[in-house]
Amino acid sequence: MRIEKCQISSIDKINWEIDIPFGKYFSDHILYCEYKNETWNEPIIKPFSNFSFSPITLVFHYGQAIFEGMKAFKDKEKNVFLFRPLENFHRLNISAKRLAMPTIPYNIFFEGLINLLNLDKNWIPMKYGYSLYIRPFMIASAGPLSAKPSSNYIFLVICTPVNNYYSRPLKVKIEQKYSRSTNGGIGFIKAAGNYAASFFPTQKAKAEGYDQILWTDSATHSIIEEAGTMNVFFYIKNCLITAPADEKILNGVTRKSIIDIAKRNKIKVEERYLTVEELKYYFKKNLVNEIFGSGTAVIINPLKLISIQNSNYILPALNNKNRISYYFKKYILDIQHNLSNDPFNWRFKISTNYTSKNQLIHF
Ligand SMILES: *Cc1c(COP(=O)(O)O)cnc(C)c1O
Repeated sequence: MRIEKCQISSIDKINWEIDIPFGKYFSDHILYCEYKNETWNEPIIKPFSNFSFSPITLVFHYGQAIFEGMKAFKDKEKNVFLFRPLENFHRLNISAKRLAMPTIPYNIFFEGLINLLNLDKNWIPMKYGYSLYIRPFMIASAGPLSAKPSSNYIFLVICTPVNNYYSRPLKVKIEQKYSRSTNGGIGFIKAAGNYAASFFPTQKAKAEGYDQILWTDSATHSIIEEAGTMNVFFYIKNCLITAPADEKILNGVTRKSIIDIAKRNKIKVEERYLTVEELKYYFKKNLVNEIFGSGTAVIINPLKLISIQNSNYILPALNNKNRISYYFKKYILDIQHNLSNDPFNWRFKISTNYTSKNQLIHF
């Protein structure tokens, strides 16, 4: 792996005491790796900088673009950890296959991350809940303009520091016209186009005074799928319900982690679809304790109001200590910051003396 270090770090631009807006500041270095002639070239770590592309580059026309989102954390001794990075690695390759893109080799992904994090470790905040958000992504980087998979690709990793932003309880609207995902579609992968397609319906919901959309199935709009760009959990009658990770649901790492924590701690959990009618019924019977979205950025985000066909249903306003969603959030954060045992082996320690590929195999 080639490493080109930057001349001057831009870390001093950041005032860590005040708000760090998500995705505004990026660490000094990026991982950059080209795929050409059916092979991945030697990865390069280089200073964060702009690129230039021909207007015929296929990513601009047919949208072959996928991404991941993961986080690096520090503990009190400044040890650096990733949270379940194998999950992101596997999911990136599932996304790649679905969009007819080449898969990323294990060593490029992990050697790249380890070198990048060792170089930019000052960018990983120490504070509880703070982290370095890592964005791996891959784009089609060649022409000609014909509608077929590109011959060349670029895999990149960029990093942005994030704080423990307070996840304000959300007002959401059940969407019964637009859909995020379809049978046989690409809703189960992190394709850039999925986000593009969600912006317009979300904008409309925002104009109506909601924060987010609760997506329903495209065929009948009667089955609840996800909340915005998060998985969604319902806590009803002491049972956690979330949609099964099938071909229409993004298989979130946070979702998986919540299910594992619930099972280990004897919290009842059902992976099944909940219908809009069922939800209305449970609201009328006062049986809905909590509803929350889950995703890497926020970990969990509680909902406070759901609009179903123009009727508003209000969720109980609870203190954090009474929220099961907060229990999951703290459980995950404590593992991420090495403050608790790691019974699931989710922490992936970034060793500072990493030198050879062989070392990687032992993780
Ligand atoms: C990324 C994403 C999630 C959350 O996945 P995590 O691995 O928990 O971050 C949920 N839904 C959609 C549509 C997503 O893109």
